[in-house]
Amino acid sequence: MKNILKSLLIALCFLISLGINSQDLFLHCGKIIDTKNGEVLTNKTIIVSGDKIIAIEDGFSFPKSEGYQIIDLKSKTVLPGLIDMHVHLEGETGPNRYLEPFTLNDADVAFNAAEIANRTLMAGFTTVRDLGGSGVNVSLRNAINRGKIIGPRIYTAEKALGTTGGHADPTNGVKKELMGDPGPKDGVVNGIDDARKAVRQRYKNGADWIKITATGGVLSVAKSGKNPQFTEEEIKAIVDTAKDYGMFVAAHAHGDDGMQRAIRAGVLTIEHGTLMSLETMNLMKQYDAYLVPTITAGKYVTEKAKIPNFYPAIIVPKALEIGPKIQEMFGKAYTQGVNIAFGTDAGVFPHGENGKEFGYMVEAGMPPMAAIQSATITNAKVLQIENELGQLSAGFLADIIAVDEDPIQNIQTLENVVFVMKNGVIYKN
Ligand SMILES: [Zn+2]
Repeated sequence: MKNILKSLLIALCFLISLGINSQDLFLHCGKIIDTKNGEVLTNKTIIVSGDKIIAIEDGFSFPKSEGYQIIDLKSKTVLPGLIDMHVHLEGETGPNRYLEPFTLNDADVAFNAAEIANRTLMAGFTTVRDLGGSGVNVSLRNAINRGKIIGPRIYTAEKALGTTGGHADPTNGVKKELMGDPGPKDGVVNGIDDARKAVRQRYKNGADWIKITATGGVLSVAKSGKNPQFTEEEIKAIVDTAKDYGMFVAAHAHGDDGMQRAIRAGVLTIEHGTLMSLETMNLMKQYDAYLVPTITAGKYVTEKAKIPNFYPAIIVPKALEIGPKIQEMFGKAYTQGVNIAFGTDAGVFPHGENGKEFGYMVEAGMPPMAAIQSATITNAKVLQIENELGQLSAGFLADIIAVDEDPIQNIQTLENVVFVMKNGVIYKN
């Protein structure tokens, strides 16, 4: 009797020390991707309490009493929730894309975005960085954080910053009566003062990041897809002001010149990087900047530009020139040792297909484990949340996904995520 009491007491102390309560989950995992050490581990139990992982045990351990839930993932491979550094949750490609600014109210955009956010989470992406919309993306983030709707954790740039006629000028291509003269409030910058004001306005509007369009882009109604569109002084003013408000800067860039200006001015991530030269790759390393490749978007626009009238005529030659070059550049940048932060530009292609990027990265020469690490541990670092997310470890937030096969053997299994947990809540099983 004494012995039974003693072991009960020990068990109780053990449970108390782990903080286990009746909502705890025991996940029996056949395989686990250890993103921290770059290893595949077998037969582990992840114990989740509230929104956190509280322990990872060897083998399949069981709760010591009733009331716990066991999740059987013994035939699956389990990974940390994926992070996509480049999405646009407010909309997506389609035949009416260029009409939508004139036909949709903010409420329409919001309802579309809610569905897109849900789809993104179900694809295994539990955290995303939204690199530009109208500002509905801020409300979307807040609604998800408050539990009103289902979606990934969002870090948003609100409205991207461009220059007059530049890639992020919201009235490009419309008739003069509708063009107006958008300024820093609308995300259009000409000169240092505008640059500072535009950043402060984003802060006021609730942005977490600043996005600039350092060069022309493919899908804007404008001629060049690669010319530099900011002066280095303007970018420097944006980066410095952003820093004052605790924000980092992401720069869309296809052309080499604009890319170099952005890196020297101190942006943290280069988006696309299509025509990046060897010299610029070295500059990236020197400044410890990250390349966000978006190969999936490049492939998609190349394919669609071949379909007559899919895009406005001014866009077709840009898509055919720029789209096919991203994957090869990425392979070269990886070989050169440039930091790679996984990102897709979902919205340019259908949301929910973000996982395709992994296959394209591997096809270009990146080992599967490195591609997975770029979407987890690296992206968590870029977002300054590396102590909370990006790995499956005790004390980290319980963002956990699972796939049918071992992605190290078959990377494309990441296109079909079968289990999704965010903050300890199961959304897909
Ligand atoms: Zn984008």
